[in-house]
Amino acid sequence: MVETDTEAREAPERTCAGCRERDAAHALLRFAAHGEPVRLVPDPRRRLPGRGVSVHPRRACLARAVKGGGFARSLRAKVVVDLDELAGLVLSQYEARIEGLLLAALRKRAVALGGDAARAALREGAVATLLLARDGAGRRDELVGLAAERGVPVVEHGTKSKLGRLVGRDELGVLAILDERIASELAAVASRAADLSEAE
Ligand SMILES: [Zn+2]
Repeated sequence: MVETDTEAREAPERTCAGCRERDAAHALLRFAAHGEPVRLVPDPRRRLPGRGVSVHPRRACLARAVKGGGFARSLRAKVVVDLDELAGLVLSQYEARIEGLLLAALRKRAVALGGDAARAALREGAVATLLLARDGAGRRDELVGLAAERGVPVVEHGTKSKLGRLVGRDELGVLAILDERIASELAAVASRAADLSEAE
């Protein structure tokens, strides 16, 4: 199961080192393998050179790959790895990716900041994804209801102060992303992060 570049370019598949099922490469998380004994570096964009191993970005698969020896079996080598540390590394990469997507949306002016602007954009049908701070309060229920009526996905991410820092405010509890492509990638990354945080 050591990965090579010989597979077809179209829809390549990989075997999950946890549940051992095959799946599309993009549905799995790649780790690059370095050194002896092997250490793993998350490679979510599948760009790092050298040997690698893939696993579903789910807590259960990660746990089986670590504790059940799936990583070692796939790489045919002793692997030094700690489940919580690995999950934490992956989560921090997802967080960084989400922040990168938010900044890209800001640069394109494809965001509505704050409750009032988000509500107006929702009513116009301009919102692709609604993002709420985890510690946000205010008119949360009203906004979530409006989003549900219009089939707009809702993502929870970060805190009010963290989101605020990204946009140059003290705090920000709500923002609406208006760009479809950015919003769908952000929703995909956020859902992976949520899967990873779940208990085994
Ligand atoms: Zn799996």
